[in-house]
Amino acid sequence: MSTTKYIFVTGGVSSSLGKGIIAASLAKLLQARGYRVTIQKLDPYINVDPGTLNPYEHGECYVTDDGAETDLDLGHYERFLNVPTSQANNVTTGRIYQSVIEKERRGEFLGKTVQVVPHITNEIKERIQILGNSGDYDIVITEIGGTVGDIESLPYIESVRQLKWELGEQNSLVVHLTLIPYLSAAGELKTKPTQHSVKTLMESGIQADILVCRTEHELSDDLKRKLALFCNVGKDAVIQSIDASTIYDVPNMMLEEGLDAVALKKLGLSSEGMPKLERWNEFLQRHKNPKATVHVGLIGKYVELQDSYKSILEAFIHAGAANEVKVKVHSIHSEHIDENNMEETLKGLDGILVAPGFGERGIEGKIDAVRYARENNLPFLGICLGMQMAVIEYSRNVLGLEGANSVEMNPDTPHPVIDLMEEQKHITNMGGTMRLGAWKCNLVPNTIVAEVYGESSILERHRHRYEYNNQYQEQLESAGMKTTGMNPETELVEIVEIPTHPWFVGVQYHPEYKSTVANPHPLFVGFVKAAYEHSKKQDNLAHI
Ligand code: GLN
Repeated sequence: MSTTKYIFVTGGVSSSLGKGIIAASLAKLLQARGYRVTIQKLDPYINVDPGTLNPYEHGECYVTDDGAETDLDLGHYERFLNVPTSQANNVTTGRIYQSVIEKERRGEFLGKTVQVVPHITNEIKERIQILGNSGDYDIVITEIGGTVGDIESLPYIESVRQLKWELGEQNSLVVHLTLIPYLSAAGELKTKPTQHSVKTLMESGIQADILVCRTEHELSDDLKRKLALFCNVGKDAVIQSIDASTIYDVPNMMLEEGLDAVALKKLGLSSEGMPKLERWNEFLQRHKNPKATVHVGLIGKYVELQDSYKSILEAFIHAGAANEVKVKVHSIHSEHIDENNMEETLKGLDGILVAPGFGERGIEGKIDAVRYARENNLPFLGICLGMQMAVIEYSRNVLGLEGANSVEMNPDTPHPVIDLMEEQKHITNMGGTMRLGAWKCNLVPNTIVAEVYGESSILERHRHRYEYNNQYQEQLESAGMKTTGMNPETELVEIVEIPTHPWFVGVQYHPEYKSTVANPHPLFVGFVKAAYEHSKKQDNLAHI
């Protein structure tokens, strides 16, 4: 019998209450008290993974070291805990059904009718316990996506009910996150929706152990007592989660409210002393007291939805704190940039990041933005598609290769400087078949990347089908765009730089996935530093 304890996080009243942040904050506090913790996200949709979803649906697709395409909440878990997650940390209904159906075809249930209960629920329970049974964790926090009462989350709720019973007293608990709306006309906070959602949970046989109440205003003692009475929990188990100016404040706010202490008490674990949050608080201190502001342009095509570039935005927060500056990110739609307005749109920026992406829409604007950064000595970081656009821009405007392009955008381009990877050529299934996960890259000495990483070999996460075409390498190199990082086994070009430019780096991988509070990503730290240097130079010029 494993000794791992389980915390389930459910949501009620409304979606988008920030279950991921609450789960990550609680995990942070438990980790800071010395417990080994991991977080898992169960997503009730039927896609096998979010890799085939447009970012407008659920925001960014986050990629783990083992190449899983996952929900963006896993990014929060890694950023808060600084512990890598894996495929086991994100399970969808699609994956559950796929696995049950495969078992049925193999004959594992011969003679039986395969049903939601017990076959689907057993599979869910197994997936929840895989992490606990590994022996690597004292506590597993499992976040159930969606809102209680949704048709699609019913099998998950039933699995939690069964597991709670099977695990027995003090081995699991349910944290229910709800919303306490404020009616400005009445000047009152309302508890009724929470009472109803706790009741909905009870109809499925689950009594919430702890309520975390999202609110725009302080909850009075009276209101907490009322919630406790009508929702059948102790008053110390009614936790207020008031709007925060930064998600990184939430662990301290939860500590003040006693969320970790009440959870540990209910699990029969010690909550003596205080969590060790010194490094976390040092980061917060730097984040909240910047000495200057740098302006960075984020050029992408999903900019209407902030969540599309979640990890990039968070990586800027980490790198800003490391440099003691505030990074003001200006999201600029690549479809709105063209040759005529680029000067006007991009002037005043201290650095330009061209974002990852798929498909043709908006790429010409990205190429114009690269050109602007290159010609104006503006620090530049191109990520994945952004790096590919940098290679295209250089090929067209420096090498003079007219019509140079990626075959993703133009299969008939006369100069396919970005080509489909060899192993991708025969792939017909779109799900989970890109070049994914962590790959090794050797760095060329005396380059920007060698300096910022301070290492000669790195492991970075990928998610793409197309690559730098090595047939153009000699031409690009002699014209000044250098390869400064390469996969040692496949010789795929992973990094390009322009040494005559102050700071110009394009990377085929996604550095943003590995940036955490404890370990801000060196490339982002270096890019922000270069942007800061650039802004100081501009200030000096302004004084002349
Ligand atoms: N669409 C490009 C490719 O597949 C880049 C992908 C990305 O930016 N993640 O290679």
